[in-house]
Amino acid sequence: MKRIVRNRQYGLSWKGDYGPRILAKLEKHRQRVGTWNVDWNGGNHYEVYYENADTQTREAFAVSLIYRTCSCRLWDVCGVPCHHALVAITFEGKDPLDFIDDYFKKSTYMKAYEALLHPVRGLSYWEQRDLEELHPPPLRQAKGKRKTERIREPLEGRKKTKMSRIGRKMKCGICKQTGHNSRRCPLNPKEDCHNVGSKKRKTNPSKVAKQKAGGSSNHMVYTVCNPGKDNQLIVGRPVGKPRKYFNPRKFKEASSSQPRTEGNAPSQNPDSAIPTQ
Ligand SMILES: [Zn+2]
Ligand SMILES: [Zn+2]
Repeated sequence: MKRIVRNRQYGLSWKGDYGPRILAKLEKHRQRVGTWNVDWNGGNHYEVYYENADTQTREAFAVSLIYRTCSCRLWDVCGVPCHHALVAITFEGKDPLDFIDDYFKKSTYMKAYEALLHPVRGLSYWEQRDLEELHPPPLRQAKGKRKTERIREPLEGRKKTKMSRIGRKMKCGICKQTGHNSRRCPLNPKEDCHNVGSKKRKTNPSKVAKQKAGGSSNHMVYTVCNPGKDNQLIVGRPVGKPRKYFNPRKFKEASSSQPRTEGNAPSQNPDSAIPTQ
């Protein structure tokens, strides 16, 4: 309400048909008229040009007073005649104010503020009703992880505050030495083949043994666990199947209690057997 009154008073205070901001813009353009010349084509079009004697160059713009356009595009964009247009308007002996867009007219401005708000009585004087109170709908938590990061612009690049792990020295949480972490620590009682913290991926060792011994695929991928150590294992798996992690101690037990099936289902690749040390 205050804003409407303020803007309305401002519009009423305009002396002429245009506001001070637009008149200042026109004056700025008028100061740039300088030494521009004009060629009239005999109709409603003008070529406004400037010849630089030092550089032997000629700059020219096409102005149309009937279409209210100049090829410098300033008049087209802002609605106030550019300095080229002002040269042509002066040549015609017309008033530049008649060539400003109607959008900036006082009558247009006042139209926006002609409707006034009606004052209302205070909240405590409103009529009381016995109906149920209206509340906003309950908030429902959407499924999935909530987004906490702002979506970045395509050219904005990545977040710069993330620390790089490159060059960081690994330090063991058990023996406090560098070069390995607690997972690979020789003092770690639970140390086994990669399966720390990957309980989900544990598989049935006997199943794995069966698969390794009598697997139908001849193409195997070999993985060496704990290379150069006492409990080194070479584990094969069929190509294309996901790597399975397991406890080598249990695996050893399983493979020793179960008779080898190599003879029954001879494998063409002798390495497909699982040697243990
Ligand atoms: Zn222009
Ligand atoms: Zn350690």
